[in-house]
Amino acid sequence: MRYSQLFPKTIKQAPAGAESVNHQLLVRAGFIDQLMAGSWTLLPLGFRVISKINDIIRGELNSTEAQEMLMPLLHPRDIWDQTGRWSDPDVKEIMYQFKDIRGKELGLSFTHEEIVMNLLGKYVRSYKDLPIKIYHFSTKFRNEPRAKSGILRGREFLMKDLYSAHVSKEDLQQYFQQVREAYLKIFNRMKLETRVVDASGGVFTEGFTQEFQVISPVGEDSILVCESCDFATNIEVSQVKEGEKCPRCGGKIKMVKAIEVGHIFTLGTKYSKNMGVFFLDEHGKKQDLWFGSYGIGVSRLVGVLVEKFHDEKGIVWPEAVAPFKVHLVGLDLDNKEVMERAEKVYKQLQAEGVEVLFDDKEGVSAGEKFADADLIGIPYRVVVSKRTEEQLEVKKRNEKTTAFVTVEELLKQLSH
Ligand code: ATP
Ligand code: MG
Repeated sequence: MRYSQLFPKTIKQAPAGAESVNHQLLVRAGFIDQLMAGSWTLLPLGFRVISKINDIIRGELNSTEAQEMLMPLLHPRDIWDQTGRWSDPDVKEIMYQFKDIRGKELGLSFTHEEIVMNLLGKYVRSYKDLPIKIYHFSTKFRNEPRAKSGILRGREFLMKDLYSAHVSKEDLQQYFQQVREAYLKIFNRMKLETRVVDASGGVFTEGFTQEFQVISPVGEDSILVCESCDFATNIEVSQVKEGEKCPRCGGKIKMVKAIEVGHIFTLGTKYSKNMGVFFLDEHGKKQDLWFGSYGIGVSRLVGVLVEKFHDEKGIVWPEAVAPFKVHLVGLDLDNKEVMERAEKVYKQLQAEGVEVLFDDKEGVSAGEKFADADLIGIPYRVVVSKRTEEQLEVKKRNEKTTAFVTVEELLKQLSH
């Protein structure tokens, strides 16, 4: 991508009222734009990061034999009435509900359990049809009262939600553990350290749930963690208090702020019972389905990554989720020979499948171009200028030193 063509360009000042680091940096660097409180456009750079995150999630979920699909966001009331959630006061707080011009009552999806169970009811007949593991990436709508932490909390946001249905509690629990492992791999691949926290299920279930929490001072959740082992618990369900001994290893328990990036639920047979969906076992007897749901806050992750990976100059993307791998900075481009060299490197890297953002603008100072590169946060900055001659000047975003290398040497370094 040529920077001269990129929409939009970086901006110098953070928008008024932007308190959180993710809001300031993502807006200034041109990744997101705010429509209204809790509502964001993912601009081309931001959308590239989302695609990287989604690819990581997709890969790990597909290896659990889960299948990707896409479900509608506009839901009829009658399906939501089958579980009673349409009229649940806690649900009414967050679900957008309205009547269309003909008086039909509709709601915008804040989650999909009812819609999935309704779908299963049409296709599941016998135990041979189970297990089923299906997911989608889509928008969720929630009338959040506190939508002010940048892209961390939206009224409209992107989520990956996976649902699974099983013949038995044991099978559900086994898959739940498999998803837990897949989630840990997903967050590890984007360099996020998570704590798995036992929590309460809110409007979803009275049963057992686990949250994946990233420790961060801007988090809205408070969790108790052990200083010595990976024990962690939500304060709402906790048996221990700050300063006490860890029930697992005897270490010290402290309270920290954290951001929830994922949440997994075993929902038991409640949804199946309430919606009259069942399967026939080996003896032809009707049985309830064991159901689970598993969410990851995809757009929230973009904000979490920025909160975790930035410095005073801008964002420092982990390679796996960076919008481009190389930021090719052309200097002295009014010189025809240098421009030709820069163009050649741009094409060579692209031909090798390297994702490159090429700052091809003429008449912009080196200082300004470097400041943009630091703000945008692409892992490798590669300079072509009068001074570099037949070589390239390479600097990693998270390191201070620069090195002069050939294109071939750079390609070798990038393939590691
Ligand atoms: P929170 O406690 O942060 O409100 P939740 O428990 O309501 O989260 P879930 O219903 O479990 O969230 O949704 C799955 C995931 O979607 C969460 O782990 C979180 O990462 C993300 N998420 C939830 N609400 C929002 C929101 N308003 N904006 C962005 N992401 C969200
Ligand atoms: Mg919530």
